[in-house]
Amino acid sequence: MGENTKEVEKEINSITRKLSALSPASSSPKFSATRLMKQLKEKEATLTLLQQMGENTTELDKEIIDIRHKLSAKAAGPIADDGRLPLKVLFFDLDETLLTSTDPSVNAGSLDGLSFLGQVPWAADPSQNVDVIVNRGIVKLLRECTNQDHVKWYIISAGHNLEKLEVMLAKCGPSVVPDNQDIGVEIFGHDGKSGSNNKRNAIQGILNKLETQFMISEALFIDDTQKNINDVAKISKIRGVKVPEGRWQADWLDITLMTNKNIADCFYYIKSGMGALKKTKRKGKKSSKPKGKKSSKPKGKKSSKPKGKKSSKPKGKKSSKSTNL
Ligand SMILES: [Mg+2]
Repeated sequence: MGENTKEVEKEINSITRKLSALSPASSSPKFSATRLMKQLKEKEATLTLLQQMGENTTELDKEIIDIRHKLSAKAAGPIADDGRLPLKVLFFDLDETLLTSTDPSVNAGSLDGLSFLGQVPWAADPSQNVDVIVNRGIVKLLRECTNQDHVKWYIISAGHNLEKLEVMLAKCGPSVVPDNQDIGVEIFGHDGKSGSNNKRNAIQGILNKLETQFMISEALFIDDTQKNINDVAKISKIRGVKVPEGRWQADWLDITLMTNKNIADCFYYIKSGMGALKKTKRKGKKSSKPKGKKSSKPKGKKSSKPKGKKSSKPKGKKSSKSTNL
């Protein structure tokens, strides 16, 4: 009986290998990166040994460089000497950055490039509703931030607009959530008052934690308030992305949201360091099958800039400014 088991085990192993070759997990960047890291460690150990013996290591040097290149292509750039994988990190403000709320009468969701996602009670008078409005491209961006293994994203808000956030995340899909919870940092209340962290301290704290595991050469902070940008950009790794005010106008109401250009900047940041390496790879033998994923290249930038004069707003109307945080 014992002899037969060995053969069966062999067969099972062979089938498992075939199955895992077909499963998406085997082509996921996390898996490949782990495997490559193991290879790299082994080769480096051999290299040390050969160097101690005074042997020629030219071939091995080449192999090590090759693995590092592969790893970089899987990840988002060159890996650190200590083996930490590179990570892209985005910190988003919520109000007037990812989303805004508007008086339903101005029908902001019908403006070019914007989307109406739903309604929530108006903070100033909960018997009335406000529209939750986003740039149409934001859903795609947040999905990409969530789906890419080399990207983490956080919402760092001074306010407390949970209902609006929930409307937005519901539209993005069930798996799209910011990484705040994983690292134990609240989304809301980063106003620096009554002992709470301001945005800069919160972000510095997150970066410190992440950098024990990952190499971060640059992180993005996206906000519509210049004061916040100036303060957070005191962190040397942070590049501020300023959301311009009043990029859209719905009747009497100025609307501030991430623009197509802001979103394109984020996509470019996420992809930078990967595209160039992919190109070099394709020149050689085709090793890994390109993913059947559609390109998430941002569409061409919008041409017209309706940044006209500001019309006076009637009193008593719900302005998105009232919740601008
Ligand atoms: Mg804001």
